[in-house]
Amino acid sequence: MTAISKPSFPAATILGYPRIGPNRELKKALEAYWSRPAENPAQSVLDTLAQLHERTVRHLSDLGLTDAAAIPADTFAVDQTLDTALALGAVPARFRADGFRPAAPDTAQGIELITALSRGTDRLEPLEMTKWFDTNYHYYVPEIGPDTPLSAHPESLIERFVTTRDTTGAITRPVLVGPVTLLLLARPETTDAPGTQPFDRLNDVVDLYIQLLTALKDAGVPWVELDEHALAAEGWDVPRDTIIDALTKAYTRLSFPSNRPDILVAVGYGDAGEAAQLGLAATDIEALAIDLDRGNEPGEAALEAWGERPLVGGVVGGRTVWRTDLGRASETLDRLKATARGPVSVGTATPLLHVPHDVERETALDPDIKEWVAFADQKVAEVVTLSRGLSDGWSTVAAELGKDALIRSRRAAHPATNRKEVRARTAAVQQRDRERASADERRAAQAQRLNLPPLPTTTIGSFPQTPGIRTTRADFRAGRIDQAEYTQKIRAEIAQTVRTQEELGLDVLVHGEPERNDMVQYFAEGLDGFVTTQHGWVQSYGSRCTRPSILFGDVSRPAPITVDWTRYAASLTDRPVKGMLTGPVTILAWSFVRDDAPAREVADQVALALRDEITDLEAAGTAVIQVDEPALRELLPLTLADRPDYLDWSVGSFRLATGGAETATQIHTHLCYSEFETVLDAIDGLDADVTTLEASRSGSGIVDGLAAGNFPRDVGPGVWDIHSPRVPTFDEVAQRVRHAAKVIGADRVWVNPDCGLKTRGWPETEAALDRLVAAAVTVRAEL
Ligand code: GLN
Ligand code: ZN
Repeated sequence: MTAISKPSFPAATILGYPRIGPNRELKKALEAYWSRPAENPAQSVLDTLAQLHERTVRHLSDLGLTDAAAIPADTFAVDQTLDTALALGAVPARFRADGFRPAAPDTAQGIELITALSRGTDRLEPLEMTKWFDTNYHYYVPEIGPDTPLSAHPESLIERFVTTRDTTGAITRPVLVGPVTLLLLARPETTDAPGTQPFDRLNDVVDLYIQLLTALKDAGVPWVELDEHALAAEGWDVPRDTIIDALTKAYTRLSFPSNRPDILVAVGYGDAGEAAQLGLAATDIEALAIDLDRGNEPGEAALEAWGERPLVGGVVGGRTVWRTDLGRASETLDRLKATARGPVSVGTATPLLHVPHDVERETALDPDIKEWVAFADQKVAEVVTLSRGLSDGWSTVAAELGKDALIRSRRAAHPATNRKEVRARTAAVQQRDRERASADERRAAQAQRLNLPPLPTTTIGSFPQTPGIRTTRADFRAGRIDQAEYTQKIRAEIAQTVRTQEELGLDVLVHGEPERNDMVQYFAEGLDGFVTTQHGWVQSYGSRCTRPSILFGDVSRPAPITVDWTRYAASLTDRPVKGMLTGPVTILAWSFVRDDAPAREVADQVALALRDEITDLEAAGTAVIQVDEPALRELLPLTLADRPDYLDWSVGSFRLATGGAETATQIHTHLCYSEFETVLDAIDGLDADVTTLEASRSGSGIVDGLAAGNFPRDVGPGVWDIHSPRVPTFDEVAQRVRHAAKVIGADRVWVNPDCGLKTRGWPETEAALDRLVAAAVTVRAEL
């Protein structure tokens, strides 16, 4: 480490910034390309990416990230993990066999490849998607098997760095997922090579990172960031000791060559742990960023081993929309500065991917609440303020610290954050409020009431959200149509959806959710204690974005939310129509939740509101009610020790929501998006009568897991992957139904798609559901 004039690490930085664009430019460009590629070729996506990147860099330097390497150059295509996989040429064999070649993400060929990998094609199943640590973001799971050919593709990283430097003058810091984390996040290409795992390829992969780093150095890049967030999580297939050992070896090799940029290793999303810090300290990497929002302050041994190298203290959390407590952060930074041997910089604890761009745009937000909130731009400003205070003395930022303290006290005193009647109701909850009659009693009562065939068919709730439906909702919102016209139009949609389901021959119908923009926001709008935003979009996966509501105060239900629509749908048919609610855990997981009350309390407040809704649905004659909890797995803490408490309050709140339902009311729940194996006990603990699960992307894995005997409930493992427009063949669907019926038992299996159909079009929906019903009928006849 003797290079001359080595740039020092900047005093302020962030680990990443939202990439979708302040007006969702990237989403729009991608979707235009996907739906009308003739008019919008891949080049138009690249143009949008280039513009966005340039604007972001200029914007971040305006906000105060002015030093060389302070700005992460992470705004590539759609997903950082996928970008890194492409930089390593990791294209699965089935795509290669179909003519796809490795390509850097920022090329027309790369955009085509990303499109195919993320969406699949007529012939090819897409990459699996799964949650990114304990967030609501989903990444594409790279497939790396023992034989997957790998090759270095640094072109996009270089092109982005050079173009940005030439157009804006800014020296950016390319970001890649680090080799250890990438392989832990990956999965094998096939199940043909039992006993092997992606992690076995660490040596090959490190060779390629070395090539990437050399190429970046040759292009003039002074610093790179390698994200090793996996170190903050537990529960990997690889034992912790093996991971730490491999980490040390990998970074010893990576940092050995002299012809490379300086390396910042970042560990966000929690505590890296001392062993990992010592392991990294034993290598020649130049800087380390740690999460001081959720992680611990580093211990003496780690600081000693780390020596005089720069440390980035991630005191500004990237996971919530609340202002950082600047007073507390300044104390944390002071302590770190006093104990560290080298320079301390200020950073974010994670990339800012999980928060919207700029709260200043929220002109309709209640000004009292708005001042409590910090989106990405406000968090960048917090980082800059803290870094100024740390280097120039806290008195230089006294005004900012004083204002923050004042806002904090105003928030604590705001009446909506502490409502007596709401608190009294949660305080009075008893264990018996979370319990129903025995599963056997319920099963018998429901069978008699519903009288369904074996292998009953149903859907998960939503039907295609057509442009017409969106226009109706937008018109109503904007006051262009009145309540009467709105009701009439939504009823027409419901009527058509009910009719179609009857024609298709489904057994348990739904109303189709045309009135819902989003399964959480819809309920947030019907409850007190939430506000919604106009521009608060965050990327959820690929081009998909959500606009989480902000849960800022105590929650209650001023009036029934779903009852009228469900009652109307039920009036049109003799078949049962499922009531459709979003569960308390998912409402919390997909909102920005207050940080001034325990999650347990907040969840129970939401649960009691839903409990009242269930009572009202029952009174309207509803016999089947689904309470969706797709996010149950999402909030699961990364550290094993924190899991029991989470599972206790989350499962408890679901049971509080549903615990008042009558014995003959069939409660369904639905889960998707994640690996369920780790939470099967918790799913069982929900005590739902029927559980529908996303299953078709995971092969027969989840079904076999359910069959293993530890899940003695009725279950509907999805038989149609609704994430891509591809319609499954009859044989595929029938095979899945047959397999589920065989291993789980035909008396316990429901037949349904993986998830709701709102992102699908009508033609593929009707075609796929037709096959789904036909498959159920066929397998029924074989029983
Ligand atoms: N009922 C919801 C729907 O069908 C469930 C969505 C989800 O699980 N993500 O859209
Ligand atoms: Zn779902």
